[in-house]
Amino acid sequence: MSVTVSVVVPLYNEQEVIGESYRRLKEVMDGSGEDYELIFVNDGSRDGTWPMAMKLAEADPRLRLLSFSRNFGHQTAITAGMDAADGDAVVVIDADLQDPPEVIPQMLAKWREGYQVVYGLRTKRKGESFFKKVTAKIFYRTLNALTEVYLPVDAGDFRLLDRAVCNALKQLPERNRYVRGLVSWVGFRQAAVEYVRAERFAGTTKYPLRKMLRLAGDALTSFSYKPLKLSVFIGGLVSVASFAYGIVIICQRLFTDILVSGWATLACLTLFFNGLILIMMGIIGQYIGRIYDETKGRPLYIVAEKINFDA
Ligand code: UDP
Ligand code: MG
Repeated sequence: MSVTVSVVVPLYNEQEVIGESYRRLKEVMDGSGEDYELIFVNDGSRDGTWPMAMKLAEADPRLRLLSFSRNFGHQTAITAGMDAADGDAVVVIDADLQDPPEVIPQMLAKWREGYQVVYGLRTKRKGESFFKKVTAKIFYRTLNALTEVYLPVDAGDFRLLDRAVCNALKQLPERNRYVRGLVSWVGFRQAAVEYVRAERFAGTTKYPLRKMLRLAGDALTSFSYKPLKLSVFIGGLVSVASFAYGIVIICQRLFTDILVSGWATLACLTLFFNGLILIMMGIIGQYIGRIYDETKGRPLYIVAEKINFDA
């Protein structure tokens, strides 16, 4: 049975919000008059999320569930939801109601106008820490400065994708996924819908600094070689400077009688260059690690359970 709209919701330890999230989504989707399915992807939650989801799905055949065998991460959960989605349009939305479900009808309207990607633009972010807001601002802008594809600033994963876009995304097999970047990369007719990002309905963020950094790393390495080019550039600069300083030293040796001074200079230079080399190696390592991930060719995720999917 094919539906018009699929709504994909990733969930990781969201027992405080799943009930309300389901209720609001159902209300909005029932009101939209569309034939729809809700796909909840349980990303290896360790709390009561899964039993609660199963209970909801028992009473509602339109609620379909996927459960991962462990925590694979937000971007992977979104991907799995899109893979399983059946709709002519696929909406991706967070479970914590920071992205208001009430915006979905506006997205659908844009889609009916002929846009194939409708992304949510956060005009304001409520109830998020100063640190998160600032780092997010810096992140989106730095990323854009470094990448060749334009990635919409201040747009999260809350978006609507046409079937054609979804199919295109399915052809991108990469493992360390930055989904919103991939969506920009595939192109198609894109439009934005502005919204105010609300406070989390309940619970705490499932994106600790570690996961944020990981996402930033994936985004950067997937869409830019500039960090690598940077090492060529800095290497060149440093070589020129070293050559000049070498001439100074030789002249000192030939034309003055300063012999065994310069220990401080030596120490500083050694420390500086060792630091620089390690940083550059680290950057290369980030790329190599991801290349290794790709070559192993492991599946992106493992689904342990599926509920309400026919056949
Ligand atoms: N999430 C997930 N797997 C994870 C981390 C988060 O599926 O490893 C889900 C989470 O349940 C939520 C969405 O991704 O639906 C966004 O997470 P969160 O709201 O915690 O991030 P924030 O809004 O704080 O950036
Ligand atoms: Mg959130």
